[in-house]
Amino acid sequence: MNWTDNYRKAFALSYDDGVYQDIRLVEILNQYGLKCTFNLNSGMMNPPYVWQADGVTIERMPPDMLTELYKGHEVASHTVNHLDLTQLSDGELFDEVTEDRHALEQLFGQEIRGFAYPYGHTDKRVKFLLNQCGISYARSVQSTHSFEPPQDMLEISPTCRHKEEEIFGLAEQFIRMRPDSPKIFLLWGHSYEFDMQQGWERFERFCEMMAGHDDIFYGTCGEVLLSNGTPEANKTDHSN
Ligand SMILES: [Zn+2]
Repeated sequence: MNWTDNYRKAFALSYDDGVYQDIRLVEILNQYGLKCTFNLNSGMMNPPYVWQADGVTIERMPPDMLTELYKGHEVASHTVNHLDLTQLSDGELFDEVTEDRHALEQLFGQEIRGFAYPYGHTDKRVKFLLNQCGISYARSVQSTHSFEPPQDMLEISPTCRHKEEEIFGLAEQFIRMRPDSPKIFLLWGHSYEFDMQQGWERFERFCEMMAGHDDIFYGTCGEVLLSNGTPEANKTDHSN
C-alpha cells in the first residue's frame, strides 16, 4: 500500500555521513516520530575519520554503533569513499556504488535502494551508471523550496536544508496546505551543523512543529519517494 492511498502530504529527512552527532539527531527524531534516511560511506566507518570545522569536532561512527542507532530508519549509499562521481571513470564509479551498496546491505540487513551524491555532484553519465548499479533514487543538494514530487528520481532536489532561514515558513505553509495531489517536504543536512550553529534547539522547535499531524505521512525517503503517486513522472529514461 502506498502512503498516497491515505495521505496527500509526506515528510522525510535525509542526513549524510554517519557522524557522532547523529546520536542526538536520532534521539530527537524518535521522540517526535519522524523518519530519516542516513547516507553512509562503508569505507569510512572505522576510525580515525576525525576532522574539525568551525571549532566543532566531527567524527564518523564505527559500524557496530550505526546498526543499533539507525533502527527504524533507512540507510542509503553515499559511495564507499565519499568521492565525487563526476570525476571517476565508469569502472571506478561502478565499484564505489555497488561495493557500498553490498557492504551496507550486509551490515544493516536491509535492501539499499537510495543514494545521496557526495558534494551533490552529478551529471547525465553518472545518473545512467547509478541506474545500472541498482539505485532507485538519488538525492542532490540544491533546495527547491517546493513540495512537488520529483520528476527525476536520480536527481532529487530537497525542499530545504535545515540551516536555511526559510525552514519555518515552509513548515507553516506545508502544515496549512490541503492539496489535491501528493506533496513532499524533504529536509536534508549534516547533524554536525547543529553543533556549529548552536542549532539543536531551533531544529527541535521545527520537529515539534512538523510532528503529530494526522494528515501528514512520516516516512523514510525510500518509503516516501518510491511510492509518491506519480509513477509516470518517475519513469525517467536514462538510457540515452
Ligand atoms: Zn557527504
